[in-house]
Amino acid sequence: MPYHWNYVKSKIKSLRSLKVRLFLLLLLVGLIPSCYMQYGILQNYENRAVSVRTSEVQEQLKIIANHLITTNYLQDQSSPVINAELEQLSNLYGGRVLIISGNLRVVKDTYSISEGKTIISEEVVKCFRGESMSNYDRDLGYIEMTIPISETVDDGKTAKQTGVLSGFGKAEEVVRGAMLISISCDTIEKTMDILRNKANILLLIMMSIIFGGALLLVNFMVKPLDKVTASINEVAEGFSDKAISVPDYAETVHIIDAFNKLLGRMKVLDESRQEFVSNVSHELKTPLTSMKVLADSLLVQEDAPVELYREFMEDIGAEIDRENKIITDLLSLVKMDKKVTEMNITEVNMNELTEVILKRLRPIARKRDIEVTFESIRPVKASVDEVKISLVLSNLVENAVKYNKENGWVKVVLDADHQFFTLTVSDSGVGIPEEALDHIYERFYRVDKSHSREIGGTGLGLAITRSAVLMHRGSIQVESKPEEGTSFIVKIPLTYKM
Ligand code: ADP
Repeated sequence: MPYHWNYVKSKIKSLRSLKVRLFLLLLLVGLIPSCYMQYGILQNYENRAVSVRTSEVQEQLKIIANHLITTNYLQDQSSPVINAELEQLSNLYGGRVLIISGNLRVVKDTYSISEGKTIISEEVVKCFRGESMSNYDRDLGYIEMTIPISETVDDGKTAKQTGVLSGFGKAEEVVRGAMLISISCDTIEKTMDILRNKANILLLIMMSIIFGGALLLVNFMVKPLDKVTASINEVAEGFSDKAISVPDYAETVHIIDAFNKLLGRMKVLDESRQEFVSNVSHELKTPLTSMKVLADSLLVQEDAPVELYREFMEDIGAEIDRENKIITDLLSLVKMDKKVTEMNITEVNMNELTEVILKRLRPIARKRDIEVTFESIRPVKASVDEVKISLVLSNLVENAVKYNKENGWVKVVLDADHQFFTLTVSDSGVGIPEEALDHIYERFYRVDKSHSREIGGTGLGLAITRSAVLMHRGSIQVESKPEEGTSFIVKIPLTYKM
């Protein structure tokens, strides 16, 4: 039973294949007309054979009917010539002939069964009204027909007495009797059997041709799809990373276009990943190289004074701090790159948070006589990830201090409407040149690379800031004038939406 069920399931599954569906469709389209044609031709032949046979016999019956009238057979059946003619007709067509006189009595039956009996059937009655008819019984394999035995008379009276087919003018057809004949259709049936056999063989040949043709056609039609799969697999398995092309159908072109777009995106991602890795390695190597140089230069001097040792060791310590900062920033960035589900949303009092961060940063600012002020337009409570928002704020304020002038100022403004809160961090610093504005959020980008070492930047701060803002479905904008100052405006929804 389970085996049977699995078999059925596998069959249903195979119906989902385009190949199988197309094949079945072609098979149906090929076979239905063939079967219908075979049936139609056979039917047509049979009808034609029956109608030829009927009209042939009817012609003969008409001639005999005339003989019956001229020999007055309906009254006197002794005429050997007519009897022989009737016998011959009966033998020739393997049938039975009945002659019925005007009083519906059978005067002659070639089977000698019904002679003397009276026949009142619809066909016979119609025949006496002058209507001949024929009826083909396919199941029993015979044709039955009636023919009126009529004579043309000049006298209208006689006609009225007997029931008449009235003619025009004086001459009228008077029905004197009826002939009832049933003939066998054996020969037609035999021919039909032979034809049917031939047609079946023909159908079988056609079926095989249609089957084979459908199989070839389906394979041919589905080939481009196989090509698409093969090409995509080649890329997936890493043999190639070039844009692929299967221009056979408009549909394959669409699929391939979409795939090439995806491939392009993946390439960009891969390139940026490689660039990131090489940047990271470079950034991590720089402090190490400095430390190595410092250590080596100490080692080559045989009796270096203690002061020199101290100075170099302080430099080495600074390089270690720098390395540490780069690694911390990198870790923050990696955390930002993870999924949104890792957001730890809580209700945060933004005024308090800003105060805390500014309090931490003020001592650094004070070293360069930079005044840090905070203007809170209104109390703001927001559902945010406190750690990430702290990073945003501290990065922006740190930058505002770092890229400032002696005796400069930094101003933080917190405002909100019913949907968003806005943090604006402005400074009186060096500003950012216009051409650099598009790049400041890139990882490791620094406007002034030569000074960044002494300033202590890693080039990751704004990348981290932007990621954190975007994770809150917020936005970050920058306005800057070189030598005048910079403003970063961060806008974040008050309630976090997934
Ligand atoms: P860094 O660690 O070098 O500060 P960031 O990603 O924080 O890296 O900033 C990228 C670059 O943008 C900085 O190197 C600096 O040149 C420029 N920048 C950022 N903030 C400011 C600012 N407030 N004033 C002037 N330049 C800035």
